[in-house]
Amino acid sequence: MKEKSIFSQIIDREIPANIIFEDDTCIIIEDISPQAPIHYLAIPKREIKGISDLSDTDHGVIDHLMIAIKNEMSKEGIKDYRLVINNGSEAGQTVFHLHIHVLANRTLGWPPG
Ligand code: AMP
Repeated sequence: MKEKSIFSQIIDREIPANIIFEDDTCIIIEDISPQAPIHYLAIPKREIKGISDLSDTDHGVIDHLMIAIKNEMSKEGIKDYRLVINNGSEAGQTVFHLHIHVLANRTLGWPPG
């Protein structure tokens, strides 16, 4: 049987996390190793490994996450934030369950490292 990702284990309440928002198709949690004062991860409940693994029938997955992020940041009154998706290990991906990093409340340099 396929091993569940760490994020699926969080979604299934098998391991703890600070859950900021949840609906039927996604969850937003606090990153365990924050790189900014606000560092959330927006994660689809369905286990898709990464952007490269999206298929033509996955329209809606990313927009759903984007709207959930926008609503949460708007609720928290945060206007400026950076969204990051690492796709593949050379790009920095360490958890192979699609997620969008949300970073805020500090000045973020460009280009990123
Ligand atoms: P990435 O390197 O883009 O795959 O991002 C994975 C992120 O997941 C990293 O920023 C980790 O700090 C975070 N992470 C790993 N395990 C956990 C966990 N149990 N709870 C919350 N965040 C986690």
